[in-house]
Amino acid sequence: MSKLIFERSVPGSGAFSLPEGDVPPVELKDSLQGFLRESDPILPEVSEVEVVRHFTELSQKAFGVDSGMYPLGSCTMKYNPKINEWAARLPGFADLHPDQPEETVQGALELMYELEKMLCEITGMERFTLQPASGAHGEMTGASLIKAYHEQRQDFQRKKMVVPDSAHGTNPATAHMLGFEVIEVKSNDRGLVDVDDLRSLMSDQIAGLMLTNPNTLGLFEEEIAEISAVVHEAGGLLYYDGANLNAIMGVARPGDMGFDIVHLNLHKTFSTPHGGGGPGSGPVGVKDFLAEFLPVPLVGKKDGQYFLDYNLSHTIGKVQSFYGNFGVMVKAYAYIKALGGRGIKEACQHAVLNANYIRHNLREYYEIPYDRLCKHEFVASAIKQKKENGVTALDVAKRLIDYGYHPPTIYFPLIVDEGLMIEPTETETKERLDDFIKAMQEIARESKENPELVKDAPAKTPIRRVDEVTAARQPILKWG
Ligand SMILES: *Cc1c(COP(=O)(O)O)cnc(C)c1O
Repeated sequence: MSKLIFERSVPGSGAFSLPEGDVPPVELKDSLQGFLRESDPILPEVSEVEVVRHFTELSQKAFGVDSGMYPLGSCTMKYNPKINEWAARLPGFADLHPDQPEETVQGALELMYELEKMLCEITGMERFTLQPASGAHGEMTGASLIKAYHEQRQDFQRKKMVVPDSAHGTNPATAHMLGFEVIEVKSNDRGLVDVDDLRSLMSDQIAGLMLTNPNTLGLFEEEIAEISAVVHEAGGLLYYDGANLNAIMGVARPGDMGFDIVHLNLHKTFSTPHGGGGPGSGPVGVKDFLAEFLPVPLVGKKDGQYFLDYNLSHTIGKVQSFYGNFGVMVKAYAYIKALGGRGIKEACQHAVLNANYIRHNLREYYEIPYDRLCKHEFVASAIKQKKENGVTALDVAKRLIDYGYHPPTIYFPLIVDEGLMIEPTETETKERLDDFIKAMQEIARESKENPELVKDAPAKTPIRRVDEVTAARQPILKWG
């Protein structure tokens, strides 16, 4: 085990040198009476080279898209072109202060204005707020819009939110947090929303339906026009969870399918590194009739000048300090501009082709419950391995680590037993896909011939199987 940075600490060593202050010092003691800590914080004292070694070592232990393929379904762990980082770090963007007067940040406002327009074009929506900081935060914003819309119409009894049984956990969690009663709509035997079941749930108490398309099985909801009609006829709104947009961007648009509200995950579809907690961005787009409910401010343009527009008649208020995670917006802008309309479409088509290529090559080795043309991801199952040799989806996932791959998402969606949700993304080469397929086939063979090997995996990592329950329930987050 390597040392923690605290354990590397040697009193008296240090690695910082600050410039001379160019403003007069301020004594905080009086104004912050009672709020100041009584003793200095215990900080590690480490020389510069030791700091560099510490973080280099951590970076080498961590697995990321830059170290290997990361087929973590639903998360769209695509490669993020480095030029987007360059763009986000340009001093004219990175050194801005959010309190600067509008006339001094015209470039930044223009970028936000243009990004909003591009997201509208890609999704078929009419206005976007860029404030939400994640997909879940976007859902919260979107569900708040649904609530505000019904309340503004004095339609107070609409308290039920419909969510499919294949939904991502954030959908029901969001609806619940906002006080909606969560109603589950069943999937049919093709893995799609059961439209008859949906119809039977409709009433004047329905606030809306939260849906992702393609769904979490990677399957396109073919009856989306009918689904949309059923919900709208009952007076509900249609919410699009855009986490799977990589599967349709440039080819189909949620706005054209009948969705009223969408959130996007810029950190999934539009090329910002993610995992480990951010920063992310979950813009929310709406059709015109909901634009007046959006959070303030939006970015407007008048007489060639960009401005922050706080003038929305039914706004739900602010959902984020200042204007959102601006650096992520810059990366999305750079990514979309670099790809252009044709590139966006091609990226989507490659993502879909790659997923189908893997699915096709694994079907003889793993059960694939809904085995037909998928979009950007598909769900395999280790049910055969479990029945025959006691090898579970978790074991397969752990063994993949030994082969140099990040595991896929497992045990999700809940409607698949021993699920392995595989999303290769468009940025993997055919050689890499072949190598991944070989690893998965090899693990299927090992499961038969030497199941203990798979059940004991990973064998090649510094730490073998961790006690994940204890790690989640009693995490040790503090040194001491
Ligand atoms: C990732 C994801 C979300 C939540 O997005 P976060 O940015 O992680 O909060 C919601 N729905 C689906 C289908 C997702 O894959």
